[in-house]
Amino acid sequence: MHPPSLAQLWHELGIPADYCAARGLVLHPEARAADLVTLPQTVDGRPVRLLPPAAAAWHRLHAAAAHDGITLLPLSGFRSIARQAELIRAKLAAGEPLAAILRVIAAPGCSEHHTGRALDLGSPDDLALDEEFARTHAFHWLTTHAAAQGFVLSYPPGNSAGITYEPWHWCWHPSAAP
Ligand SMILES: [Zn+2]
Repeated sequence: MHPPSLAQLWHELGIPADYCAARGLVLHPEARAADLVTLPQTVDGRPVRLLPPAAAAWHRLHAAAAHDGITLLPLSGFRSIARQAELIRAKLAAGEPLAAILRVIAAPGCSEHHTGRALDLGSPDDLALDEEFARTHAFHWLTTHAAAQGFVLSYPPGNSAGITYEPWHWCWHPSAAP
């Protein structure tokens, strides 16, 4: 069952109670803010935070990419459940239908970014978090090297969660690490 605060959030935003089950999504526990570390790399000064083991894996990934002449940039890491709700509220206020919003943003509680293990990545030639990233050298490098550091592409084309293809979104899984 969802904690009451999450159920209240969903009710407020109009998200159906069976949202997770219907999409095959799972609830992701929110990392404790005190446990997060800020990555030294930043784009436009925006802090990107991860849990320490995920940050350590990121440092290895970033260094391995740099060794191969590839620059990986972290654009987004930890995001709280409250922040996820704010993003959806803003889109609703702008008149976007909820169904359209939920194709590009997971419901609060269902985003891998809550865990402190997920990263949105860019490269100097694509910082837009768009499908163009799939055509970059950085993405091609990731498809062959990210797994060695435990990073998995969460939303490939045609994923069962009904989320649009996100070539920029990679999640570190302890069990996937070597
Ligand atoms: Zn993401």
